[in-house]
Amino acid sequence: MTALPLVFDAPRRTKPPRHLADLTREEARAAVAELGQPAFRADQLARHFYAGVADPALMTDLPAAVRGDLTAALLPGLLTPLRHQSADGGRTRKTLWRLHDGALVESVLMRYPERATVCISSQAGCGMACPFCATGQSGLTRNLSAAEIIGQAVAAAAAMANGEIPGGPGRLSNVVFMGMGEPLANYPRVRKTLEALLTPAPHGLGLSQRSVTVSTVGLVPAIRKLTEEGLNVTLAVSLHAPDDELRNTLVPINTRWKVGEVLGAADDYAHRTGRRYSVEYALIRDVNDQPFRADLLGKLLSSRLAHVNLIPLNPTPGSPWDASPLPAQREFVARLRAAGVPTTVRDTRGSDIDGACGQLAAADQVDGVPTVALPAPGPGDRGTPGSVSLGADPDEE
Ligand code: SAH
Repeated sequence: MTALPLVFDAPRRTKPPRHLADLTREEARAAVAELGQPAFRADQLARHFYAGVADPALMTDLPAAVRGDLTAALLPGLLTPLRHQSADGGRTRKTLWRLHDGALVESVLMRYPERATVCISSQAGCGMACPFCATGQSGLTRNLSAAEIIGQAVAAAAAMANGEIPGGPGRLSNVVFMGMGEPLANYPRVRKTLEALLTPAPHGLGLSQRSVTVSTVGLVPAIRKLTEEGLNVTLAVSLHAPDDELRNTLVPINTRWKVGEVLGAADDYAHRTGRRYSVEYALIRDVNDQPFRADLLGKLLSSRLAHVNLIPLNPTPGSPWDASPLPAQREFVARLRAAGVPTTVRDTRGSDIDGACGQLAAADQVDGVPTVALPAPGPGDRGTPGSVSLGADPDEE
């Protein structure tokens, strides 16, 4: 095993300071009133936050004398950008953020001709321990607050609007919860984030439901809860194997909720929304890419309201696994399509900056200083598959 990089500014599990985006509108109005200001200032602050305005000097609709106090009280800077890394001629940009307690997370903004998508993190680290995923290797540090999750999307929207990404000023159109963490293990904060993403501007980012994707390992009770919310966001299920035997090893939580149960919950979601869900399947050479597994997957999904999104594995440090070779990928696609299952292969944007699916580890060097904020792996850090309590915040236990 390679020596662990120096732990620098190791995170303590502390709650982020209060932020407007964590509050309901009423709570925000009350907080402003407590500061001796008229309640409508809460709406003014919300407008600035969702427009990506962080500098109090630019909040000219607030009296100069109170700008500083109001922003300090309700819009504390929760995400400090430590570094941007770009690929694809600048159209893919990964940002490493430092949180108030030193924890690190990453988000990735990808601009395409027709859309701009940001891939956001919902947790620092992840407790799901999928062996092919870089984030899964160091365990869970903590849940992010809603404001910390929303802030990543707000920053991406501002970057697009300000023309920071080549192609001129544009609009953030899509958000995917495919960064670090298991979104449905941080349910209340992710639910709150969805509300902020979908609420029309100026009180939210005004995204359309179908352009927001929640990706999960398959926490069945949380999928059911999401179904009951009446939201129509896109659901993605990280399956990676059609059979329980292999899935138990690739997605350890499968020992708690089996393939059939996960797909059953996703089916109910699809029937309620009337929209297909996405089945994520990382193609790993000689592990899950055999023709018989393609046939098994085809059989499993042919009568379901699902489509398959194949992701050639993005290699992660220390893992012996590799992406399936092209002929195996093509064969896999052909067999699924022959079974009548709509199938696409995901492009691997950002793999050269470790920004592709499963490569976010936030374990990087900043200016030559190790800033790995991940605690050394220990038995308590990995999370225990099977003991996931929805949205239980380690800070609150
Ligand atoms: N915890 C959520 C979101 C995480 S990542 C989930 O598991 O769905 C988003 C997708 O990237 C998931 O489908 C995940 O399984 C996949 N992924 C993880 N590591 C990968 C890797 N090394 N190569 C390709 N895809 C990977």
